[in-house]
Amino acid sequence: MQASNPNNGNLTLLDMVAKNQFGTFFGVSQKTFDTVWNNLRGNDKNSVVYISMEIGADPDVFHPVKDRLLELEKTNSMDSRLKKFIKKIFNGPEKIPCYGGGLGVLAGDTLKSYADCRLPVVAVSLLYRHGYFSQLVDSKIGQIAQPVAWHPEETPGLYLLNDPENPEKALQIEIPFFNEYDQETVAIAQVWMKMEVNHTLDYFIPELLLDFSLDENPTPIKDAAGQLYNSQSSTIKATQRRMLGTGILPVLQALGITSYTLHLNEQHGVVVALQLIAEELTKTLNNSDMSQASHEQIATAAETVADRLVYTIHTPVKAGHDRFNKSVYAGISHRSCRHILELLAHDEESPHSYNFTTLAMRVNRTANSVSRLHRDVTRKQFSEFSEKITAITNGVHHLTWISKARADFFDSFNELNNWRSDPGVFKNAANLKNNTRFRTALIRAWEEDTRILYRYINTMLVQHRNQMSSTWIDPPNHFSTIIDTNIQLDPKVFTIGFARRFSTYKRADLIFDNIDKLCSIAVNNNWPVTFLFSGKAHPADEPGKTVIKLILDYQQTLHAKSNGLINLIFIPNYDMLIAKMLVAGVHIWLNNPKRPLEASGTSGMKAALNGVPNLSIMDGWWVEGYHDGQTGWKFGYEGPVDEADLSESPEALLYAEDSASFYKTLPLVLEEFYEEDKKSLFIDKAINNLSLNIPIFNTHRMAAEYLVKYHLTLPAALENQMIDFGNLYNSNE
Ligand SMILES: *Cc1c(COP(=O)(O)O)cnc(C)c1O
Repeated sequence: MQASNPNNGNLTLLDMVAKNQFGTFFGVSQKTFDTVWNNLRGNDKNSVVYISMEIGADPDVFHPVKDRLLELEKTNSMDSRLKKFIKKIFNGPEKIPCYGGGLGVLAGDTLKSYADCRLPVVAVSLLYRHGYFSQLVDSKIGQIAQPVAWHPEETPGLYLLNDPENPEKALQIEIPFFNEYDQETVAIAQVWMKMEVNHTLDYFIPELLLDFSLDENPTPIKDAAGQLYNSQSSTIKATQRRMLGTGILPVLQALGITSYTLHLNEQHGVVVALQLIAEELTKTLNNSDMSQASHEQIATAAETVADRLVYTIHTPVKAGHDRFNKSVYAGISHRSCRHILELLAHDEESPHSYNFTTLAMRVNRTANSVSRLHRDVTRKQFSEFSEKITAITNGVHHLTWISKARADFFDSFNELNNWRSDPGVFKNAANLKNNTRFRTALIRAWEEDTRILYRYINTMLVQHRNQMSSTWIDPPNHFSTIIDTNIQLDPKVFTIGFARRFSTYKRADLIFDNIDKLCSIAVNNNWPVTFLFSGKAHPADEPGKTVIKLILDYQQTLHAKSNGLINLIFIPNYDMLIAKMLVAGVHIWLNNPKRPLEASGTSGMKAALNGVPNLSIMDGWWVEGYHDGQTGWKFGYEGPVDEADLSESPEALLYAEDSASFYKTLPLVLEEFYEEDKKSLFIDKAINNLSLNIPIFNTHRMAAEYLVKYHLTLPAALENQMIDFGNLYNSNE
């Protein structure tokens, strides 16, 4: 291979190795590496720091470096400079399990589009050695949370930065914490860098992951460092927030990164604003006793700092807003910081708390919500700031979420040329609607994805049954206990997908509110239906876990009452890989949150990108993606929303009304799928998703809208490209 094809030999691979004073990295050329690095370190401060508690960018769903190696047939190397990198990539399955759900996946998708668009951005997040958690599901118990074992040093694309002065050692940054007597305890963090390399391997976004799980750190720091969203105590929660927020400026300084603009992906990292205000005050006060600063001086400093911050708020759900009892902060921050917090994080509703969501809302140059409806709700929730709150509707990274079969199908039509670089190209799909070859190819690709999904599920069901004898886990699915090896779930059956975090407002059990009614729809028309459910509940969310258990309990009843026509399958341990299989393989994507509590939702967009219609409550992105029924179906309450509708209490969750509406809508969907003379309408909806929704709900367009807020200066060609992406949609209409 090597001898006959010298251009694809080691020369190309060595061109994928880059070095600087912090280490040696694999995936891009030295030139690319230097470009990215220099962009972040310029005197013009023309770059952005993207701050997020979690980043979900699973290499199993998008890994351009691995794809390139496979293309070159280089799955190993004898060259000592390459061997260790390539071995890690193909030894698998090590990956970073540090995301909990939509927020993290959005962060990952955003950074991948920033890399595709070659924007000067660096991300900062935390590294959690126990990840989030791994989910086992037992039919009698429900969810069982297990710690995740993973090894950063074995994980491809992740590098521990070394100390430039002492390259044998890891770079360490020092971050001051305090006790209630204002005595300083210094916490140490190591810095891991993950490279989010773009699909053409000529740009990347560095993600700096701060790792506080070090033996020498004080115990409270180590306790907080291990697991994402550890909510064992409010001190642990607050310490995590502080680790992120306070780590940002020191790590930027250690790496020489000069970015002016900081983007807060949710308020978790907002403590960085405190640090910046403190820096400002130190300058103006000429001494370090900031607790003497007047309100006016603090307000002036805050105004200066605000100009550097862009804030995205992600939820109208109160539990998602960060409030901490003042006593908690007395134990980890200095009194001068508390003095600033008194003024900027006060909360009228809760005088004994600091409200970090309010702090983020106060101190920024621009704040945005993540859909139009969410903008309207956020303006009501924070009426004081309503003028500066705009909408930037979320998107998803199309190169991550379009399946292999769908990608091959798109590649076979000239009209869609260049779709990888420009998701706007999909507008052309509108002209292909009556093209028989196009319609047939879409159906073929879809069938292929459904087959892949069912192969996974049928194998899983058998595995669960087999492991019954070797472990104490009761198979989560009733179907595991009734099948014999010859009976399997049938991919031709209409398949409804529902997967996301289990949280009460998402109402996973809504459609089972009246099981008799649901079963009669199937039985009366002889319409078989398979429901595929997946998702984790936060380990401390008891109501969320109860909903998972309910779903498991409904399986047997549904099967029996529908004479076996309805099967409900639960897929344990939801992650991005399962998500990708589901969104491409199912026939419809279901979402039924309580309006207006789903600020955006992104899994439905992933389905839409594959041409899979949605069946959804008019909430979040679907209000914008529904296009008067051209792309799917709506059901449930869609009237005006006000403060009272933000309640998550059981009686406010509208189960009876919205489920009744579901039972009216479902037959319309099944009719279109199963009746020969209507089937073409179903395929029309699929194609409309390609032409109407891909150009909108992608992160390239979203990047363009954020760029307007970032105030960066870009080379003219890039600027024009971003303007084109921005012209695909205006979220803020
Ligand atoms: C996309 C995604 C989510 C978010 O789904 P929503 O519909 O926005 O709730 C959560 N988890 C995983 C693994 C995902 O891929």
